[in-house]
Amino acid sequence: MTDPLASLRTLARVSLAHLPTPLERMARLGAAIGIDRLWVKRDDCTGLAFGGNKVRKLEFDLAAAIEARADCVVCGGVPQSNVARQVAAACAKLGLECHLGIMRGRLPHAEPAYEESGNILLDRLYGAIVHDIPWDEDRNLRLTAIVRSLKRSGRNPFLVPYGASDALGALGYALAAEEIVKVLPDVGWIVHASGSAGTQAGLIAGLLALGHPAQVIGIDVDAQPGRVAADVRRVGREAASLLHIEDRWDDERVTVVGDWSAGQYGVADAETEAAIRLAARSEGLALDPVYTGKAMAGLIGLARQGRFSDGAPVVWIHTGGGPGIFAYPTTMARLSSRR
Ligand SMILES: *Cc1c(COP(=O)(O)O)cnc(C)c1O
Repeated sequence: MTDPLASLRTLARVSLAHLPTPLERMARLGAAIGIDRLWVKRDDCTGLAFGGNKVRKLEFDLAAAIEARADCVVCGGVPQSNVARQVAAACAKLGLECHLGIMRGRLPHAEPAYEESGNILLDRLYGAIVHDIPWDEDRNLRLTAIVRSLKRSGRNPFLVPYGASDALGALGYALAAEEIVKVLPDVGWIVHASGSAGTQAGLIAGLLALGHPAQVIGIDVDAQPGRVAADVRRVGREAASLLHIEDRWDDERVTVVGDWSAGQYGVADAETEAAIRLAARSEGLALDPVYTGKAMAGLIGLARQGRFSDGAPVVWIHTGGGPGIFAYPTTMARLSSRR
């Protein structure tokens, strides 16, 4: 039998993640929310730097940096950027100098811990050089400015784009799709937090390559479902092209739902908080207020709407984000004090 992901396996890749991540049946959570056959894909257990979904993407992106003989890597995000933390740790492990553009001012009323604890604390621990820059809706604009200034001073920087969501990074999630399908061949639904779109794009491209019909539902965490869906379509098509199946790419496979974003990036609402509490108390899972709490609120809401009534197995991906919990002490104390 020919390998549907053969072209991917010829690409340069560095080993950073603990793979395959566990796929755990979660019967107590499933019973609580009315999904009989619920599994959680534990991508919070990718190992490096407290884990998370970006580690898979960086196996491809940072291999490309090494191939380009880069002497430093540039990435960035908000102070609680999970990708920034995972890039900082991966660069430390690979012996690459790491420059992070840390974007201030996206959240109007962040707690003090947001600016100095959680992910940003770890960025510094891992030795990243932090450049404070203002937030800009064009997320890569000021990162490319850092790249240009490093070039002017004679360096050879490599840009890992916002969220590590280029087509190359997305391929990490084509491999995650393969891991899921191997263990659960009749999986019907895959649900996860979607933001910079690489995770969802890679999952869909991987499923198309494998000829698998499972439906992927991205839960928008940015309160920008249209922008997220457009990015999934763009990056997904490029990822499909890297897998030599561009002819199979189908925009119709892209589903992003926008009802569980709490109306704003980086802010939790009552549904987010209830979802975090339920996952913690039914399964001992730690979800964060920015990504996985909203993705769990989305899973609960979709189940309530009868979206999974066909009874097919549902896989919810825990995409990580644990350190962000410590950047939201007020939110976490409020939701934890409730029964
Ligand atoms: C980045 C991130 C996501 C979203 O993944 P994208 O590939 O950017 O869509 C989801 N959850 C967590 C914890 C993340 O850090």
